[in-house]
Amino acid sequence: MEKLIIFSAPSGSGKTTIVKRLMEMVEGLEFSVSATSRLPRGVEQHGRDYYFLSAEEFDAKVAENAFVEWEEVYVGTKYGTLRSELERIWAKGNTILFDVDVKGGVRLKSIFGDQALSIFVMPPSVEELRNRLVGRATDSPEKIEQRIAKAGEELGYADRFDRVVVNDDLELAVEQVRRAVEEFIAE
Ligand code: ADP
Ligand code: 5GP
Repeated sequence: MEKLIIFSAPSGSGKTTIVKRLMEMVEGLEFSVSATSRLPRGVEQHGRDYYFLSAEEFDAKVAENAFVEWEEVYVGTKYGTLRSELERIWAKGNTILFDVDVKGGVRLKSIFGDQALSIFVMPPSVEELRNRLVGRATDSPEKIEQRIAKAGEELGYADRFDRVVVNDDLELAVEQVRRAVEEFIAE
């Protein structure tokens, strides 16, 4: 069966850190590269980090029904999963990893059912989330406040995921995720 694994979390929970570790430990996993209407940040590359589209190009793809799902994650900025991306990865026999916002995660799970494992990465607290975002030093204070403001609502989606992993002790969280993923792939 072609499988997919969905990761969602409030920004700063440690999802990227955990998924990076997971990919070093488990073979046959490949990231779905999303399309976005935002501009590249820093060293981000088209086709590797995102498919960077203009707002017009993004809307044209929506009209063509080219997306499995898409969301306006931040006001004025859209992100979506292209159908072509699923075909590209499954054709290689790999399991697809998704890093999508909570609504996208719930949506993908509802589309793919048992073909999908959905994992919510939970921060120990909103205060710790703020510390991590400040510590990561990739976002302006304004962007950090925007992300924190969103976190409250996002936490309310946790019980709609197959698994909730609290990322307090990183090693423990990585181990829980690894076990869940290996069990799911072996099913
Ligand atoms: P996300 O992808 O969910 O936005 P990141 O993986 O970028 O989050 O992590 C946010 C910041 O928190 C990073 O600086 C990361 O090194 C740090 N971090 C991740 N997990 C932990 C943890 N368990 N304890 C402390 N800091 C962590
Ligand atoms: P970034 O920091 O890259 O601008 O923000 C990414 C946000 O958009 C994260 O919450 C990420 O999970 C979400 N995201 C990225 N790609 C997709 C996608 O294809 N679909 C949805 N629904 N959300 C996405």
